[in-house]
Amino acid sequence: MAAALQEPSKTDSHKDGTNAEKTVVGWQGMRCELPPEWNVTGFSMDRESGYLRVDSPGNGTVTVQIRWTNAAKPAQKQPSLYTMFAPHFRKLFRQPEPVVPETDLKGNLEKVLKDTAKLAKKAKTTFESSIKAEKIEGENDERISINFAWSGAGKGQGKIWRCKTCNRVVVAQVVGMGKDQNSISAIAAQLFATLKDHSEDGYDLWGLYDLKLDIPEDFRLESQKLLSGHLHLAFIRQAERIVFDRWGLANMTRKKFTLPEWFQNSAVTSLKKLQKSEAILSSGHEAVTYSGKLSLIARAQTLKESRSLRRFPTRYAGGVWECTETNKIFSLQVCHSKNTQGLWEDVANRCFCHSAAETG
Ligand SMILES: [Zn+2]
Ligand SMILES: [Zn+2]
Repeated sequence: MAAALQEPSKTDSHKDGTNAEKTVVGWQGMRCELPPEWNVTGFSMDRESGYLRVDSPGNGTVTVQIRWTNAAKPAQKQPSLYTMFAPHFRKLFRQPEPVVPETDLKGNLEKVLKDTAKLAKKAKTTFESSIKAEKIEGENDERISINFAWSGAGKGQGKIWRCKTCNRVVVAQVVGMGKDQNSISAIAAQLFATLKDHSEDGYDLWGLYDLKLDIPEDFRLESQKLLSGHLHLAFIRQAERIVFDRWGLANMTRKKFTLPEWFQNSAVTSLKKLQKSEAILSSGHEAVTYSGKLSLIARAQTLKESRSLRRFPTRYAGGVWECTETNKIFSLQVCHSKNTQGLWEDVANRCFCHSAAETG
């Protein structure tokens, strides 16, 4: 499923000077860096087989397109009894993981180019493409990759690769008009120098609209709302949840509400019986926090809505803080099982709101 995004308002995202030197993009385990003020304009919710599109600012015609699939989970077949229980049996008998089928990179790339050639035919222009030899790359030689370029209805420069570490097959390309040749090459150089298809530290970076948020990689995106002025991301790990919100125009909101008043309106549970406290975050901001046992009503709600009963949440931790440097209010809430410790603090301290240059 792909979603179209509303253009983020300029007042919300850049007038306050956030992160002017580059755009950091992170989505579903993919991450890359692009020049300032590029915007995520399309994405898919699916992690195994996904899509991300990032556009150049203003009237720019250059765009970055990234598609990926998980080679270890090819077709969405009905699970057989064996595949359902296999991970459990492997653990019992210590059998190796099943061999992941080899990927025909060149075949995959030819399909991509064939589709692109069709567009050229529609636009009645000639289509030309070049494919470089397969090579091994990556810090640990984990990638087998093929570079390619084409010209037809526009121009494109890209790369297809398979990562041995995460089993993702990725096609990434920079596409533009004929006149964009120089910037296509420059953007492609920056893209491929920074593009990562898996995390190295156990956290996925969720980066868009100046947000940089690290979430443990075993959480899956459940829902999103990306509106100008309000960004909302919710993640689940079995029955555990992380709910993140960010609002712009904090100075306006703060004329009417205290932080606890504002937070109360968006809290996923009643805050009445929870313990109120304060925490200083790694960003330097002071958060008002609430923690304690989830009410029986909240637990009943989870029971009704959750697809899993594992890691059943009985505890709540939430907090709200303001970043005056970027004029935003942040809220983070987690509903966790009693065995999960320190999740709120962990994520709150990995929410990067302003750069050092903006301090003071
Ligand atoms: Zn990888
Ligand atoms: Zn800040």
